[in-house]
Amino acid sequence: MAQDDVFKKLVSHCKEYGYVFQSSEIYDGLSAVYDYGQTGVELKNNIKKYWWDSMVLLHENVVGIDSAIFMHPTIWKASGHVDAFNDPLIDNRDSKKRYRADVLIEEHLARYDEKTDKEVQKAAKRFGDRFDEAMFRETSPRILENRRKRDEIHTRFTRALNENNLEELRQIIIDCEIVCPVSGTRNWTEVRQFNLMFSTEMGSTADAAMKVYLRPETAQGIFVNFLNVQKTGRMKIPFGIAQIGKAFRNEIVARQFIFRMREFEQMEMQFFVAPGEELQWFEHWKQFRMKWHRALGFGAEKYRFHDHDKLAHYANAATDVEFEMPFGFREVEGIHSRTDFDLSQHEKYSGKKIHYFDPEQGKSYVPFVVETSIGVDRMFLSILAASYCEETLDGGETRVLLKLPPTLAPVKLAILPLVKKDGLAEKAREMMDNLKFSFACQYDEKDSIGKRYRRQDAIGTPFCATVDHRTLEDNTVTVRHRDSMEQERVSTDSLQRVIAEKTDMKNLLKQLAQHKA
Ligand code: ATP
Repeated sequence: MAQDDVFKKLVSHCKEYGYVFQSSEIYDGLSAVYDYGQTGVELKNNIKKYWWDSMVLLHENVVGIDSAIFMHPTIWKASGHVDAFNDPLIDNRDSKKRYRADVLIEEHLARYDEKTDKEVQKAAKRFGDRFDEAMFRETSPRILENRRKRDEIHTRFTRALNENNLEELRQIIIDCEIVCPVSGTRNWTEVRQFNLMFSTEMGSTADAAMKVYLRPETAQGIFVNFLNVQKTGRMKIPFGIAQIGKAFRNEIVARQFIFRMREFEQMEMQFFVAPGEELQWFEHWKQFRMKWHRALGFGAEKYRFHDHDKLAHYANAATDVEFEMPFGFREVEGIHSRTDFDLSQHEKYSGKKIHYFDPEQGKSYVPFVVETSIGVDRMFLSILAASYCEETLDGGETRVLLKLPPTLAPVKLAILPLVKKDGLAEKAREMMDNLKFSFACQYDEKDSIGKRYRRQDAIGTPFCATVDHRTLEDNTVTVRHRDSMEQERVSTDSLQRVIAEKTDMKNLLKQLAQHKA
């Protein structure tokens, strides 16, 4: 199936099974804003728990906070967001559509990589077992030419970004003959900068009203609470502060479903270290975060690091964790070494000293910061994209299922009486009442058992327990496994243990536990 089709199917699956709805749908929707439904909210909460527990529970030197969305407006001046939180935008005069110039060029560059991969696949087919991929990549004239062209554009692009050269960005778009996906023309306007922060007013009278911003990242709430947490928590460097919360950006080119939203959620951790130790910690967190992603079991090849072409002026290292979405590899998480920029800026703008006295070094300094920043919604999308499957069964019927990691699945166990009568429904209810304290269960007695299995497959429930007449005699149920469709007989006494073992968050966390900060 073409990847475009997979993505379309995924979007409609999300709606049909209560994962994600368009916001304000009965009013024709609000662009790039989404609501999470009854299954979506559970998956989202499980992702957040996985992140929180792996950062805060597993690390004694990482603590959490929950800061307000509204903050003093000077914070955004100090952080640089008022002056420089911009996207370079370009319009197509024929379609009247607006695009991010950098994204148009990045997509164009990605096409060279796709071309190379296609050449490799073709050759692999042609040569069969004799194929040496590394050698082919190094010697094929077509691949070499492709790479030369790509590198040339890439070098120009990086330079233009670093020099903030908007004219050159436009010129690259023209030279690469990039067309508007809607009109198909190259009738482009100039490139302009556009600030992404939403603002509103706080206060009751027009005169006294203060312009405030909806935070575009959660990180600043951590920086301005650095001293509060350090002092009250008696924290010693190195230590981290974690936070999960909403962020808002007036994204102009909001496409690809929940990949780019105007209201979204971030999970961020700022790790404070002694100056000079930041690159070593950057490497540490880079490895830990990749391990966190890979522990979900979707396959290591789905993830890669992408080092930044343009380092923010305050950063001395930055990389993205990219995931292979149906529309290509895209950023899900950023890991940045932010130096002492943020704390120094807040010191300067607030006039308050934000220093840490290091008893080991016997001196005080402004700590350096390594940040890990991941979007809950992008993570959610990556998990759904990796889990969505269509299978053709023996009878020719198609089965749609979400192979969600059991730990993250919204429902862990569906409890299904084979029929409603003969006391089976009562027995199933009794089991539900016992098990609901241990994990998320769902009771379903409507429709044939086959249909109910399909419904649970579609929402990604890893296990179904069917109560039948034998259950009343020997206290066993049929446990059906979502992925293999295999069935086994399990005693009702051991059901809680069997399902808990396979769905407990501990399973994931234990894989990470050896990696301590
Ligand atoms: P992009 O280049 O895609 O705009 P970014 O580099 O600006 O992203 P960061 O500022 O590093 O993103 O934010 C950290 C994380 O927050 C991203 O990795 C992503 O997962 C998430 N994120 C950022 N913007 C959005 C958005 N508009 N919608 C959903 N998630 C977002």
